[in-house]
Amino acid sequence: MEQGYQGSCLCGAIKFRIKEFMPQVGHCHCIMCRKFHGAAYSTFAGAKLEHIEWLSGSEKLTNFKAENGTTRQFCSACGSSLTFQGSKVSDSVEFALAAFDTPVDLTPDAHIFVDFKAPWSTICEGERQYAEGRSSTIRKG
Ligand SMILES: [Zn+2]
Ligand SMILES: [Zn+2]
Repeated sequence: MEQGYQGSCLCGAIKFRIKEFMPQVGHCHCIMCRKFHGAAYSTFAGAKLEHIEWLSGSEKLTNFKAENGTTRQFCSACGSSLTFQGSKVSDSVEFALAAFDTPVDLTPDAHIFVDFKAPWSTICEGERQYAEGRSSTIRKG
């Protein structure tokens, strides 16, 4: 078996492999993550560029650059939300953990941007909750 973690979009056109994730993972409740995923929150984990391999379908990968300079990528055929990159030049890309087909052995340790949480969503997990980013006010935990 190949090493690392393999993921794909809903239609299967886009496939990727991550050799190694960066350790810090959080659930993000910001409005942009909610809309991008069509869900209560996103769970992204970062990977260094040299640890990312696009196996197929990279021509279907479409960029959405928001006004705040962040870039998100999705599949143009099925709409799956796949990646996030901050506005500053970086040597890493964050991947939506929900898109992985092989088991991911990471443990999210925080909920971030909880001040923007959907009112119909209840956080049941005990992880620390931050008002905005990890350097912001701790709301719980
Ligand atoms: Zn797709
Ligand atoms: Zn977010």
